[in-house]
Amino acid sequence: MKKRLNHTESLSTIGQLAASIAHEIRNPMTSLKGFTQLLHQTTNEDGKRYLAVINEEIKRMEEILTEFLEVSKPTNNKFVSFDIKELILEVANFMAPQALMKNIELIISLTPESKFKFLGDRNLIKQVFMNSIKNAIEAMPKGGNIFITISNIGMKNVCIEIKDQGQGIEADKIDKIFDPFFTTKSEGTGLGLSHSIQVIKSHGGTIEVVSEIEVGTSFKFILPLQKEI
Ligand code: ADP
Ligand code: MG
Repeated sequence: MKKRLNHTESLSTIGQLAASIAHEIRNPMTSLKGFTQLLHQTTNEDGKRYLAVINEEIKRMEEILTEFLEVSKPTNNKFVSFDIKELILEVANFMAPQALMKNIELIISLTPESKFKFLGDRNLIKQVFMNSIKNAIEAMPKGGNIFITISNIGMKNVCIEIKDQGQGIEADKIDKIFDPFFTTKSEGTGLGLSHSIQVIKSHGGTIEVVSEIEVGTSFKFILPLQKEI
């Protein structure tokens, strides 16, 4: 079964309030870590085993906070003009070795003659595509291909598609994947896509997802091109 989702509604959940709470939680956690170390010296073997579990969980909370603070970091909106094709090639080159280690090949196709001049925060847009390729890799434990296609939609928009041959997304989960903290992975944070949708929307774009179980998932990022002045 195929399910399509057009995500246009605004996500206000990752806000400044949440970021300041994350900051506040960090301090008591550091203190917790310190005290577990002290306890470790005075407790018996059973106690040491329990402390190891506590430490693992603290580590996990720290990872979530770090990633959360990273994605909710206020950007200074450094909008610059850049070629989106060049950026995608840069991201693909960076991710290719990681993919190859998992028996995954990145297959890129682009319209060579087209220019994709885009005005935006290059770093944020880069993060979106890194996240998307990372998700695609994580969806393909058995390996396969990731197809990256850049094409123009008329004169005004560019579409970047990241299509994998992975496990797909279940129909009842597809509406949730952009929610902060929604993850189906034991090591996931569920922050990648909620950040991505914010970034794409703040650049006037949209994301479309089409997924089929055991066949794969396609993410289409549609962004407005810079108007020629
Ligand atoms: P995380 O990767 O930390 O779980 P994301 O926000 O990046 O968080 O993704 C949220 C969820 O969306 C994932 O846990 C997964 O269930 C689903 N997902 C995202 N991309 C894909 C994909 N390419 N194939 C299958 N499922 C995906
Ligand atoms: Mg992710």
